[in-house]
Order: sequence, then C-alpha cells, then structure tokens
Amino acid sequence: MTVWDVIIVGAGPAGIFAALELCRKTPELSVLILDKGHDLETRKCPGRGIMGGCLKCDLCSITCGWGGAGAFSDGKLTLTNRFGGFLHEYLSQSGLLELIHYIDGIWLEFGATDRIFGTEKSAISELVRRAATAGLELIPAPIRHLGSDNSPKILNNMYEYLKPRVAVRMLSEVKQIIVHDNKVQGVILADGSEERCRYLIAAPGREGSSWFSEEAMRLQLTQEINPVDIGVRVEIPAVIADDITEKVWEPKIHYYSRAFDDLIRTFCVCPRGEVVIENTGGVVTVNGHSWSGYSTDNTNFALLVSKTFTQPFRKPITYGKYIASLANMLGGGVIVQRLGDLWEGRRSTEKRLAKSMVEPTLKEATPGDLTLVLPYRYIQNILEMLKALNNLMPGIWAKHTLLYGVEVKFYSARVKVSEDMSTEIEGLYAVGDGAGITRSLAQASVSGVLAARGISARG
Ligand SMILES: Cc1cc2nc3c(=O)[nH]c(=O)nc-3n(C[C@H](O)[C@H](O)[C@H](O)COP(=O)(O)OP(=O)(O)OC[C@H]3O[C@@H](n4cnc5c(N)ncnc54)[C@H](O)[C@@H]3O)c2cc1C
Repeated sequence: MTVWDVIIVGAGPAGIFAALELCRKTPELSVLILDKGHDLETRKCPGRGIMGGCLKCDLCSITCGWGGAGAFSDGKLTLTNRFGGFLHEYLSQSGLLELIHYIDGIWLEFGATDRIFGTEKSAISELVRRAATAGLELIPAPIRHLGSDNSPKILNNMYEYLKPRVAVRMLSEVKQIIVHDNKVQGVILADGSEERCRYLIAAPGREGSSWFSEEAMRLQLTQEINPVDIGVRVEIPAVIADDITEKVWEPKIHYYSRAFDDLIRTFCVCPRGEVVIENTGGVVTVNGHSWSGYSTDNTNFALLVSKTFTQPFRKPITYGKYIASLANMLGGGVIVQRLGDLWEGRRSTEKRLAKSMVEPTLKEATPGDLTLVLPYRYIQNILEMLKALNNLMPGIWAKHTLLYGVEVKFYSARVKVSEDMSTEIEGLYAVGDGAGITRSLAQASVSGVLAARGISARG
C-alpha cells in the first residue's frame, strides 16, 4: 500500500495553504488532499433563489468542497493580528503579522485584487474617536476584499497550480484517523478504504468540527472550550453606514453591555451586500455576502454576543445549534423582524415588512418574532449595542432596521497544539477553523503554512 508523506483532510484555505507551502518548501514529499465535498465546478447550492432557501442537503455545497467555506465566503482578508483566530497565543504578535503578510502575498499571486481598504490613518482615527464617545471600541484593520464572486476564481487558480504537484480526491470523506503507539498511521474513509501516511494535517473547517472533536476525544487529545457567538444579522440602508464602510470596509466594533457586561461585536460587515442563508450541520442560520461585481442599496452585518460556558456545561456548539433550530422550527428557516416590531413586542408580518424602508435582500426569510427564539440576555445585549451604534451610524436605531436570526458562530473545541500546529500525537497536525484555532481566511491560511513548515523541517 502507498504510504503518502502527507495527507491533508479538508481543501479549505487551511488545507490548500498547507499544500502550497509543502510544494514550495519540500516538493519531493508526496501529498494527498482529501475533501468530502465537490470540486469547484460542481459545487452548486440547489436551494439558492428558491422559497425556503436551504434544502438541508447531507453535503452542503456552500461550506464543503474545493476552497471550503472560503470559496463562497465574502472574501475579506483581514490583514491584522487583532482578530480572526487564536494564533496570537502560539506566535509573537510581530511573527503573526509577518505570516499574515506572507499569505496575503500568495492570495495576490493567485489573483486577488490589489485594493486594500482601511489604510487612511487620519479618517480612521476620527472614527475611532467617534466610536469611543459612544462607549464603542472600533478596531482598525486593513482589509483586502476578494469579493464572493472573485474568490472561486482565485481558488481555482490554486487548484490548477496544485493539480500536477499533489493528488486531490474530492467526494472523499474521512471517518477515522488511524493511530498506533501514539503515532499517526493514516485514515479510514467513508467507503471503508484506507490511506496510509507519515504526517496528517487535519483541516476540516467548521463543517467538520464535530467530527474532528469526536475523533480528538476518542484519541484522548486535550481540548479547550471556545466561546459560542450567537446573535442576529442587521440590515440597514447602505447610506447609513457608507461614511464608515468607505473608510474601513469591515468595521470591527466591540461593546460591553451595561446589563450583563457581555462582549457584543460586529462581524462580517457586507457593505451594499446581501443577506444569505447558511447550513451548519443541518441547521439553517444566516450570514452575509458582498460582491465585487454588483451591489445592493443595503448594508448588513452580524451583531454577536460572545459567551464562554464554564463548568459543568461543555457543549457550546450544541447550545448554539439548539437556539438556531428554534428559529428553524418557528420560521421554517431564518426569521426576519423589523426593529420597530420588536420594540412593540409583536411579530413582523409580510404586511408590516412591506412598510419597511429597507427591502430585505434575503427573500427566503420568514417574518416573525425573534424574542421567541433568542434568550432575554441576547436580545437585551443586541438592543443596547444598536442604541450605542446610533451615535456612530445615525439612523440605525429606527423601526425600519431589519434583524435576521439566528446567526451563530460555532468555534470548535480547541485541540492542544504547539506553535507548528502539531498535536500530542506524533505526526498529527490540526489547523484552521475545524481545530478551533482560527476564525478567518487569513488565519486559516497561516495555520496551514505553519503545519507545512513544521513537516518540512522534519522532512
Ligand atoms: C458565508 C461565509 C462567509 C465568510 N466570509 C468570510 C470573510 O469575508 N472573511 C474571512 O476571513 N472569513 C470568512 N468566512 C470564514 C472563512 O470562510 C473560514 O474562516 C475559512 O474558510 C476556514 O478555513 P478552513 O480551511 O479552516 O475550513 P473550511 O474552509 O471550512 O474548509 C474545510 C473543508 O474540510 C472538508 N471536510 C470537513 N470534514 C471532512 C472530512 N471528515 N473528510 C473530508 N473532508 C472534510 C469540508 O468539505 C471543507 O471543504 C466566511 C464563512 C462563510 C460560511
């Protein structure tokens, strides 16, 4: 049986960047990439554009396949060491920043646009000051916007580069990691076949996080609990936020609530974009996109409340899925509510929604009542932050503002790794969102590079 030097599980940014770096540093190593999803050409979401949206496919084409969740993501490369994952806990701040610039160079090489948002220092300082007067912390970060429509092209260029250099097998789900005497040996696939290797890089993304967490438990790897972020996606007339998004593109704003002292933060701001649905392990949640080729009259972003559970509860992902499934139960998918209806303590209806100044970009959302889904703590925190944001974006605290629920960010339990992403099992590396180490395209790419360099150094 062939023994591969390296098997990579998952063809998202973490897995792809690991493969690219291996090709550069040690081209003599044999590499096999396994992904349970389709290749880019055949990745199609059958629910897109139809009423009800998500068809809850067993194999979600939005998150699985070549490019991973990154393929149809908004493609915002956050060129900062301030957020996007936990890599700052393994590297120095300057070391992390250096690597972020390194991977940014590779994204550019494969076709990313050279335009970077958020570099005008004086304008940004003024925004930071305005935010601070409202009790908000605005964290500036330069961003390269790939665009949801451009990302697949870049990922395809990476595929074309890798194809003659490494073996790629799509529709190949890994079920089990084989370990003997605390040393990795290979994997067992869903069809029962086995592949052997000297090194294994697990890069299964959020989609494969439950699988990987179970494997980590079975293999007795140490795991830490990460927070779960639950909230809503806010949609407003773009003109309300243009002033900020034109300067920063992705304003990262943090707020600590008066009522609970919880952290609430903006996430994935999509200027003049669209609200979209996402299927996370069979649960329909909400997300956002903006395109480089066309724009809408609305801007959307998530407001997320971060919660880290303490003893005895150790299942933040199950909690997040449970909350999201309540919205699915009541609304058949995603629920949309006008802020004005929430204030009045009533559900939104088609009729009330039709009066809204903001026309929903997600047509499949059901008008409903988010207070029947989200616990009081979340609603209270979100309302407080929206009110504070009104000082920065006058007009957001208005009855027309739309809230879509539920948006959930599951951060997988974090497997214990060293700075080269090696785990407690010899030869096994864990990278990207699925290992709970990153939360972004940029940091996922960096984590893949780190694992590849670790392997290349060992040879
Ligand atoms: C709609 C959306 C918009 C986003 N927008 C942005 C953005 O603008 N900026 C940003 O920085 N981040 C964004 N993200 C997040 C970003 O896409 C992720 O952080 C990034 O893709 C993580 O990379 P990864 O390689 O760790 O995992 P993924 O990209 O999730 O890839 C994991 C791959 O592993 C495969 N897999 C899983 N389990 C198995 C298994 N058992 N066997 C074989 N294969 C398996 C999956 O099919 C998948 O292809 C967005 C995500 C979504 C869903």
